[in-house]
Amino acid sequence: MTPADKIREITRRLPGGVRLVAVSKFHPVQAIESAYSAGQRIFGESRAQELAVKVPALPQDIEWHFIGHLQTNKVKAVVPLVHTIQSIDSLRLLRAVDAEAKRIDRPVEVYLQVHVAAEETKFGFTPLELLEVADEAAAMTGARVTGVMGMASNTDDTVRIAADFAAIRACFDSLAHGAFRSRPDFRNISMGMSGDWRLAVEQGSNMVRIGSDIFGERQ
Ligand SMILES: *Cc1c(COP(=O)(O)O)cnc(C)c1O
Repeated sequence: MTPADKIREITRRLPGGVRLVAVSKFHPVQAIESAYSAGQRIFGESRAQELAVKVPALPQDIEWHFIGHLQTNKVKAVVPLVHTIQSIDSLRLLRAVDAEAKRIDRPVEVYLQVHVAAEETKFGFTPLELLEVADEAAAMTGARVTGVMGMASNTDDTVRIAADFAAIRACFDSLAHGAFRSRPDFRNISMGMSGDWRLAVEQGSNMVRIGSDIFGERQ
C-alpha cells in the first residue's frame, strides 16, 4: 500500500476530533507527496537538517510539527519553518523558542513534553516540573503553549501503556484547570504512535503521531 492508501485507511479509523500527524522523518519527499495527495496536511519531523531540506521542497499549506529533541542552538533554524514544536522538554528551551519567535515576529505553537515513561532516556517535564513552569509558560506570547505531548513506556504491557497515557492526560487536565484555565486554545493532547495509538485515544488523546504504519520502516 502507498502512503496515500495508508492515510485513507487510518483516517477512516480515527474517531472524529482526533487529528493525525504523519511522522515523515527519514522518509523521502516523494513519500510525503503521496500522503499529501490523500489530503494529509500535518507532518512531523524530528531533525532540523531534514526539516530545512523538506520544507522548501513541498507545498506551502503543510503544517510542520517538530517532534524530536531540539537543541537550543537549533532553535533559530527551526522556529521559522514550523507551525508547532511538540517537544518542548525544558524551561531553557521554552524560553529560547519564545525569545526567537518574538525576535522574528512569528508566533509558534508549542506543546510541553511530559515524561511519564519508565525509560530514563526519554525527555520531558515530570508532572511536578510541569506545574512549576505552568504560570510562566501560560504568559508567553512568542511560544504559544497549546497542549502537551507524551510517550508511553516502551513495553508490551498494555496496562502500563494505558496508565502512562492516563498520567499524561491527567497532566493536561491539571494545566487546563489551572494556569491555562482562561486559554481555550490550550486543547491539544498529543499521544499515541503506530503501536499504541488506539490505547492513547481511549485515554483521551486528540492527536496521534503515526510514522511507520503510514510510511513503512525508516531507512
Ligand atoms: C518517530 C516518532 C513517532 C512515530 O513513531 P512510529 O512508531 O513510527 O509511528 C511519534 N512520536 C515521536 C515523538 C517520534 O519520535
